[in-house]
Amino acid sequence: MKAAMLYGIKDLRVEEVEVPEVEAGEVLVKVKAATTCGTDLKIFRRGYVEKVISLPTVFGHEWAGEVVEVGEGLEWPEKGMRARAGNSAPCLHCAMCQKGKYNLCENMVWLWGAYAEYITVPARMVLVNMQEIPQHVSYEEAAITEPLACVLHGAEEAGVKLGDTIAIIGAGPIGLLHVLIAKKKGAGEVISIDLVEERLNFAKKLGAEETINAGKENLVEKVKQLTGGYGADVVIEAIGLPETWEQALKVVRKGGTVLEFGGCPPRTEIKVSTELLHYGEVTVRGAFHATPLHFRKALNLIASRTIDVRPLITKKMRLEEIKEAFEILSTTKSEIKIAMIP
Ligand SMILES: [Zn+2]
Ligand SMILES: [Zn+2]
Repeated sequence: MKAAMLYGIKDLRVEEVEVPEVEAGEVLVKVKAATTCGTDLKIFRRGYVEKVISLPTVFGHEWAGEVVEVGEGLEWPEKGMRARAGNSAPCLHCAMCQKGKYNLCENMVWLWGAYAEYITVPARMVLVNMQEIPQHVSYEEAAITEPLACVLHGAEEAGVKLGDTIAIIGAGPIGLLHVLIAKKKGAGEVISIDLVEERLNFAKKLGAEETINAGKENLVEKVKQLTGGYGADVVIEAIGLPETWEQALKVVRKGGTVLEFGGCPPRTEIKVSTELLHYGEVTVRGAFHATPLHFRKALNLIASRTIDVRPLITKKMRLEEIKEAFEILSTTKSEIKIAMIP
């Protein structure tokens, strides 16, 4: 089968590899679509997962496809079923799982290798984080279950409430999903912040009332101005840089919440004012990944079109063109998500 292999920074090759063997409890899926993601782009450009994954490695984690082989001992799923799974499966036994923090599982099973013709779903993932895709939902849409699950988890942690003013720093795929969720959760006003005009226009199309181009305007002053001098009720950082993590703290109102959502490079530290936390009663929260429940909810939201993710898929390309796809994503900001079709 064909699979994209990452050899190093910006060294991505489509190669012929063996179709994986299916062991007891596992499921082999023919990938029908895999969507590009900011995390993949970071790995492609910075290669920062070196310690987690040894190179060369398979790549990609947002996918959907058709079950073609079912391992021994499984009553579900059936061959031919349209399905998506992962990209994680908690153990349900460790201290974190016992506390219900499944997203922080100490023995998480992760699954990479979406940019390939076939993918093997590990046994534990079949049990706890694999879902059937309804007929009317396209494979591309279903692939977006993973990022939507993470954003949904973040929005729950941030406690977005009816009528709130929400400032979202970053209008990439994750920031835009935050716009969609914030609107559905009843935000009164969503302010989308980015450096790229095209992306801000996109955020407007998806429902943001206000946009700020932080390259042209002072984002702190502008958010204050838009909120009567007080700051936003909830601020969501969806970029993953220390500067924007700190800026998020500067545009929240007293008693408000900052959700630091974007993952920064390892060992990054930021400065936080004690006055802000003490006199300002600001809550600062982090959110990482999602639980199997969030994945289920996310697919249901996509299927019911409560959250319509279709506009985010701005391009389709062949698996063979994957390097080109990532070059496009690193050099232009005009595409949001590219669906790679094997
Ligand atoms: Zn992703
Ligand atoms: Zn666990």
